[in-house]
Amino acid sequence: MITIAGAGVAGLASAYELASRGARVTIYEQGEDPSDNSCSWLAGGMLAPWCEAETAEPEVVRLGVGAKAWWQQFTKVETRGTLVVAPPRDRAELTRFARRTQNHRIVSAAEIAELEPALAGRYGQALFFEEEAHLDPRQAMLDLIKAVQALGVEILYGTPAPDRVDVDCRGMASGLQGLRPVRGEMALIDAPDVEVTRTIRFLHPRIPVYLVPRGQGLYMIGATMIESSSWRPITVRSALELLGAAFALHPGLGEASLVETGAGLRPAFADNIPRLVLQGETTHVNGLYRHGYLAAPALARQLAQQFFQETSDADHRERRTA
Ligand SMILES: Cc1cc2nc3c(=O)[nH]c(=O)nc-3n(C[C@H](O)[C@H](O)[C@H](O)COP(=O)(O)OP(=O)(O)OC[C@H]3O[C@@H](n4cnc5c(N)ncnc54)[C@H](O)[C@@H]3O)c2cc1C
Repeated sequence: MITIAGAGVAGLASAYELASRGARVTIYEQGEDPSDNSCSWLAGGMLAPWCEAETAEPEVVRLGVGAKAWWQQFTKVETRGTLVVAPPRDRAELTRFARRTQNHRIVSAAEIAELEPALAGRYGQALFFEEEAHLDPRQAMLDLIKAVQALGVEILYGTPAPDRVDVDCRGMASGLQGLRPVRGEMALIDAPDVEVTRTIRFLHPRIPVYLVPRGQGLYMIGATMIESSSWRPITVRSALELLGAAFALHPGLGEASLVETGAGLRPAFADNIPRLVLQGETTHVNGLYRHGYLAAPALARQLAQQFFQETSDADHRERRTA
């Protein structure tokens, strides 16, 4: 049997890849239910490898390109792409973003109006990353939980992991050396009068924000990037900045209701590249930073391939069949 600590997106994706190759898997999760998770539950759910390349290493793009197809196995993925816009006086931001990224095309005001009528007349130009996608991370986690349980995976909620596990997916709680927390704050708003259908990135000069539609007028606005280990709720400053930028993106969002705010700690290595780390008998799947939904499928596949190539190793064979 393979034991996993943590039922965030890393633990669940790992369980899926291991169990679908025939392994018996148990996950220990200290939270009482999926919503007790602080990081995966708060995510925006963007599957946006090419936009992320603005600041991320090429390795993140490589890890992320297959994520859309992987998630489509279990959950609804909106494949409508990402639209990147900038305030008219900050058009240079758009040029800079375009220089640092690939797989996009420039769209005119007329095309923006066709793609997103709610933004008609507001922006003269945008970048369209047509192959990107987004999902509802909460629904995706629930759907993935169903999929792993259908493969026989046992998830023990309300159960801290024992001292030794085969796979450690506890995010910041793993205590892994070199891991640092990057605090991300977000807001959920209900804006039934503004209809946007795809992820919009708004290159606001003070705080770039994104808006991810969750359907039925709900939008996630994210996210701050703060080098801090504070678990405190969102600060007034961050709330003002996120909501102010959303209001600048579309004044109609000023009439939205603020239904939820949250703050989570993203686990990140110094280079912000997620990876597997073998420590003693335990393989860590960690450092997913702002790319948990994007990179967990590829890392989980790597993990499962490692486990299954190790069948010559008596120790691992014993673990898998016990
Ligand atoms: C605001 C925000 C927006 C984001 N947006 C995106 C996005 O759009 N796209 C994207 O791809 N990524 C996004 N991310 C990043 C993504 O959420 C993280 O990379 C991902 O959630 C990390 O997953 P994880 O499974 O490694 O860690 P976690 O989600 O933190 O999971 C770790 C789990 O381990 C459990 N645990 C801890 N200690 C123990 C213990 N002793 N025993 C058992 N269980 C334990 C915890 O309860 C938790 O459930 C965002 C993050 C934030 C904060």
